[in-house]
Amino acid sequence: MTPLGWVVAALAFGIGMLAGALVLRRSAKQEVVARTLVPHRTRQVIAALQSGAVIVRPDRRAAFSNHSASSLGIARPDGALHAGVADLAERAWRTGEVVEEEIEVRRGVLGALTQVHVRVTPIDTELALAVANDNTEQRAAEATRREFAVNVSHELKTPIGALSLLAENVEDASDEPELVRQFAVKMRREARRLTKLIQEIIEISRLQGGESVLDHEEVDVAGVIHEACEGARLAAENRRIELVTDVRVRPVVLGDRDLLVMAVRNLIDNAIAYSDPGARVTASVTAKDDAVSVAVLDQGIGIDASDQERIFERFFRTDPARARETGGTGLGLSIVKHVALQHSGAVTVWSQPAVGSTFTITLPGYEGSQ
Ligand code: ADP
Repeated sequence: MTPLGWVVAALAFGIGMLAGALVLRRSAKQEVVARTLVPHRTRQVIAALQSGAVIVRPDRRAAFSNHSASSLGIARPDGALHAGVADLAERAWRTGEVVEEEIEVRRGVLGALTQVHVRVTPIDTELALAVANDNTEQRAAEATRREFAVNVSHELKTPIGALSLLAENVEDASDEPELVRQFAVKMRREARRLTKLIQEIIEISRLQGGESVLDHEEVDVAGVIHEACEGARLAAENRRIELVTDVRVRPVVLGDRDLLVMAVRNLIDNAIAYSDPGARVTASVTAKDDAVSVAVLDQGIGIDASDQERIFERFFRTDPARARETGGTGLGLSIVKHVALQHSGAVTVWSQPAVGSTFTITLPGYEGSQ
């Protein structure tokens, strides 16, 4: 190395050592501050908390903070404090009262923005305690619940509106028995639609409740397919659809038989509703590599690629007018998705407009299944 090289290397080494020493000094200083201001026991309690907890000082720094506070992005172990928390602490000291607020925190440089709920309690003039929790998921769940409630009331309005209109028609046509009979038939259809809608709303709320609703029993999947087909047989005959099963294996899964029958039945009902008379619908089962797949194949109208992601959303219909004709609620596939998820499985779709669709529910096989 040239003499200049040695000088540069020595300088770089010196600067590195200095920076290291400064960092060490800073964290040592922080340690001393923490020890002086926050007693050992208190620090142990704070460290054990699941929530993010920070002891805030009037110089807008943290005297002590726990690991969760770092993960939440509101305080660092070197004492750096999120400006939003420092502002809250200043307000708490000023008013002498507990203050709480949602603050937006970005985790990491490119991390996503999260909503953190922070509650600051002034302890004395020197210290305040900030306790923080991530509310992002809770807020998203609340927003979904609100949206669901709005959609439900909107969906209920249609059949209820139709029923009250039909009732008025019956009143007006009281002297014409034939007309009354026709309105009564329509009223029965609307009442059936309403019943189905309410049953499906109850079902989806139960499935999405967050907890497992499964009865864990050994379920013969071939039996599930046969029962679902039997239930749909009349609808198939009415629409002149040939409904066939292709069951060459008898795999077993662990789960809830009634829910599985309901999911497969929903797929078959759709396959029938979205096919033209004369078409064939096939329900089959296969078992491979510890996975059991139930497929429902149709030769119906198919689904545009752009809609294929959205059809599993609640109340989504590609063609609301046709759905109204078929009595669709827009909840069927959402129920199928949640039944599959509850069984640690998934549902997928292959579809091409004017060719047909295949919906496949894949579930983990149970020991002993073939
Ligand atoms: P719906 O009660 O309206 O049938 P689903 O949740 O079961 O509600 O289905 C959502 C939408 O997906 C339907 O409105 C329809 O547009 C489309 N869809 C579902 N299954 C099929 C299918 N087999 N063929 C064509 N389109 C389908």
